[in-house]
Amino acid sequence: RKENNNIFVDDLKDGEKRTIPNPVCTFEEAFAHYPGIMENIVRVGFKKPTPIQSQAWPIVLKGTDLIGIAQTGTGKTLSYLLPGFIHMDQQPVKRDKRDGPGMLVLTPTRELALQIETECNKYSYKGFKSICIYGGGDRKAQIKVVTSGVDIVIATPGRLNDLQMNELINLRSITYLVLDEADRMLDMGFEPQIMKIILDIRPDRQTLMTSATWPTGVRRLAKSYLKDPMMVYVGTLDL
Ligand code: ADP
Ligand code: MG
Repeated sequence: RKENNNIFVDDLKDGEKRTIPNPVCTFEEAFAHYPGIMENIVRVGFKKPTPIQSQAWPIVLKGTDLIGIAQTGTGKTLSYLLPGFIHMDQQPVKRDKRDGPGMLVLTPTRELALQIETECNKYSYKGFKSICIYGGGDRKAQIKVVTSGVDIVIATPGRLNDLQMNELINLRSITYLVLDEADRMLDMGFEPQIMKIILDIRPDRQTLMTSATWPTGVRRLAKSYLKDPMMVYVGTLDL
């Protein structure tokens, strides 16, 4: 375990010891090579990365799976969105948006899905097209957008599983998967849908998980769906 100013990192890979990257103190340290991303951050006017961002970015940019535990309002969305954009841009195999999305964010509620999509559009990068898929939303309209081609899907598990079962969306093109607010998704009973969704996603994907807490159910999810993750948590956590 490594500690930097109340940011803790655990390496959950057994055996071989990996080097935990140092946290970045500035946006430049993480994104200097990606001017499009820097421009967006400068435009929004943020001063410095939040603790979870400063430690998550260098880990995720290396392609390592990540569990990020921090309270609500600590900037977890950008901790996975910005490296996600870069991942999408650097995919070795070219994907066409009509084949299916490259990035999927699963989140518990419609409100969160819409908020994440707003962030996604605010920082939009390389013209990636995003869509929000949630229960109660216009199903026909969602299907139409998926068919016309999409890069990033932000979804609640129920509706996405519905589209998947009816073969209205292809999940096999996804290489970057985020389980956002995993504790709340479990509390809402979404585990069966999450399981079915992930069955269709390629095993060599990169997977990230965020949560405000670290109960047994979330640990079980992490064990099932993440591969040798590093875990970053901010503040105190009784482990
Ligand atoms: P969480 O997912 O951890 O609950 P969010 O990602 O929704 O938190 O972020 C909460 C708020 O903080 C958002 O309004 C977001 O725009 C803002 N924010 C994110 N990163 C930074 C930063 N580096 N500096 C200042 N504000 C930020
Ligand atoms: Mg969040």
